[in-house]
Parts: sequence; structure tokens; C-alpha cells
Amino acid sequence: MVTDTYRELPHPRPDLPSVRRALAIGAHPDDIEFGAGGTLARWAANGCEATMLVVTDGSKGSWEPATDRAALAETRRAEQANAAAVLGVTRVIHLDETDGELEYSMALRAELCRHIRLARPDVVFTHDPWQHYQIHPDHRVTGTAALDAVVAARDPLFFPEQELAAHRPAAVMLWSADEPDHWEDIAATFDLKVKALLCHRSQGTNSMGGADQDELRRQAFSDQVREWAAEQGAPGGLLLAESFKQVIP
Ligand SMILES: [Zn+2]
Repeated sequence: MVTDTYRELPHPRPDLPSVRRALAIGAHPDDIEFGAGGTLARWAANGCEATMLVVTDGSKGSWEPATDRAALAETRRAEQANAAAVLGVTRVIHLDETDGELEYSMALRAELCRHIRLARPDVVFTHDPWQHYQIHPDHRVTGTAALDAVVAARDPLFFPEQELAAHRPAAVMLWSADEPDHWEDIAATFDLKVKALLCHRSQGTNSMGGADQDELRRQAFSDQVREWAAEQGAPGGLLLAESFKQVIP
């Protein structure tokens, strides 16, 4: 007997219809670019008003024990601004929580809710808080708090003292998802994604294989990012993509 062993592959969902505003919430400077930089660049080019919200100050992002953490946070703020400009992102918000020490709190949920109600995005991007074996506590906390903030922003009885109208985004897109079901084509904006990532020069050694040091390593990093984009795109039938788990609030 012949058994049909072919699995039906998931089909990429069509692009979301006209996203006018997007809000990306990341734990650290550079997280948003890794997760959704290509998508944001494409949407921004199509007139989408994109906001990046970076929760922590990135002040532990160095393997050099003698690092001046306040100076590093300052550097990373500037790098984030450069990366945002490359992608065409309109606005960057920094919550300046201490890197590595983010804890879940109602205050954090309320603050993220406030920004969602102010920005009124059609789409919110953030970390998948359910990603298996995600060891960075800031990534887990940010993803959880951002999702909880989406629920709070939607329901008017949460945080009425904010005196802001409730807002329900059309979708939340979780990057680094174990079970992606939505793909965004980044073939046209792949180079911008890499360029934006390379703005984070302070991270060249610890998360980009020495890309800040010479052209050879910059190219190796670019190839690595291309490989990830190809891997993410393959199940969605795309050459280069960012994949997401889409949640409808
Ligand atoms: Zn991070």
C-alpha cells in the first residue's frame, strides 16, 4: 500500500490590507530590526507610519566587563535612531528600563497600553512570549507584557485614568514564533534590514560576529541574516521573508 506522506504546506496569508500605522515593541535596541526590520521598511515605503518602542536601555549589551553602562545606553539610543532612519520608521520611544532586569508589573502593562492607545496602530509587533527555550528574561517579559497591554488597550475599563480612547489593533504579529502562520516578503527590503542591523555597531562583537570590524565579517553577517530570511520564507513559499505568529485581539 502506498501511503501519501506529503504534508500540506501552509499557504502564506496575503499581505494585511493597508496598514496605516504599526507599533513594534522590542526588549532591546536591535531586537525589532532582527524580528521585523524588513517588514517595517516595506510598509514604511508604502506610507505606513511606523513606531518603534524599545523597553530597556540595552546597558548590558557588551561582553567587555569594564564597559561604562550609562555610556553604552547612550550609544545604543543613537544607534537605534540611525537604524530607524534607515528603515523609514517615523518615531522611536525608549522606556529606558534597566537591561536584563525587566520584571513583569502592572506599571509596565499600563505604560505599554498607554503607548498603544496613543499610537493607535493597526498592527503591533513583539516577541513571541511562548517561544520555547527563550532564555532572555527581557524577551519573555516584553512579549507577555505587550500582549497583555494589547488586551488592556482594547478594553476601556483598563486604566481609565489614562483618559485615552480604547484601541483594538487588527492584528498582533509575534516574531521568533515556533508556529508561524504569517509571512511577509522582505526580498525588496532585505538590504535595508541588514543596513539597519549594522547601525548597531556596539553589538557587532556579541550578536553580529564581529560585523563592526571589517568587510569580510560584515558580509558573513549579511549572509547569515539572508540564510535566516530564506529559512523563514521557505514554508511560506517566499525567497526571503520574516515569519510571524499572527494573533487577532
Ligand atoms: Zn534582545
